[in-house]
Formats: sequence, C-alpha cells, structure tokens
Amino acid sequence: MSPVPYITKWSAEEAPALRVVAKGRGIGYADERPYDRDSNGVLWTRVPALPGKGRPEFGRVHALRQQRAIRELLCQVCGRPADRDSDGVLWLLGEDPGDPGFWTTDLNTTHPPLCMPCAVKSVRSCPHLRERYVPLRARAFELAGVRGAFYRPGYPAPVATEVTEVAFGDPRIHWLRAGQLIMRLREFRITSLESYTA
Ligand SMILES: [Zn+2]
Repeated sequence: MSPVPYITKWSAEEAPALRVVAKGRGIGYADERPYDRDSNGVLWTRVPALPGKGRPEFGRVHALRQQRAIRELLCQVCGRPADRDSDGVLWLLGEDPGDPGFWTTDLNTTHPPLCMPCAVKSVRSCPHLRERYVPLRARAFELAGVRGAFYRPGYPAPVATEVTEVAFGDPRIHWLRAGQLIMRLREFRITSLESYTA
C-alpha cells in the first residue's frame, strides 16, 4: 500500500463551520484570531491539524500542510525537503507538454514539489501520472496567489459563490477564504526520471 501523502487531508481534519462576516476591505471570521491570516493578510480556512486521525481523503488537500510544503519546498508525499540540483527544484505535473499553451506562459500550480524517491514511486504507482506526467526542474519560481472560496457582499452575511484563484496584489483577494497556495514556475525545463527508474 502506498503511504498517505503529506498534504492529503484526513477525515478528522474537518474545518469547523465558522461565521464569515464583512470585515475591512473584504471578509473575515466573526471570531477571527491572528493566525487565521498569513503575513500578506490573506484569510485562510481554519483547519485542525490531525494527520493520521480517521481515514485519508485522497484527492483532498490539507490547507496548512499544502501551504507549508509549497512555501518551504517540501515533498508533497513525504514532507521532507524536495529534490533540488543545479537545474532547480523537482516538480511532477500532470500537464500536457504537447499543448502549445504549455510553453508560452508561466506555469501556475497548487502542487508542491517532490523528492526523487517519491517522484519515482508516484509515476510507478499512479496510472494517470504514468501516462501524462511531466517531471520539471524549476529554476525560477515565486508564490503567485491563492486558491479558495470567493465571497460576494450579502445580507446578513457575505455569500460564497465559487472556488477560484486570485493573484497577490489583486484586491479581490480580500474576498477569498484561501485553501491552497499557488506557485508560479517562471523558468523550468523538462527533465527525466529515467535514470532513477531503471
Ligand atoms: Zn518525498
């Protein structure tokens, strides 16, 4: 059985139903605490950290561990430092390099990087990744924004309308309850895992 990835959410880690209110230039929690916002003032989903409790919810991501892995370049599977060499940090993305758009723009992703053993194991065990994974080495990258629940003003309380991505610097970010951090890969090249899979 494959290990449960570091960023996967466990069933005991359910976010409490917090009352969202209009606050300042956007939204906040009725009983907001200082650690509900990051250093950019972005409001985050408040989730308990109970990894290993209950059952893993594959496909769902724990907001704080995702954020930490992207920010600190930790492997999304094991939580140890991601692989880095002179060509950059290792990412494994399910994008299609045959798509011309892939090469013309920066690449935004909510997926944290990986260490080499976990990258190799992932493409071996996941059929989807095996068919369409692209191992990348990123040399230049930056935190670009957040993904989460977007609210519009409402009475008696703001109303969540959609899940969307908002860039840092965009004033709409004050209306977002963030769940994941977005990394923009600016300079990257395709690499190979073959020498490790032999
Ligand atoms: Zn790893």
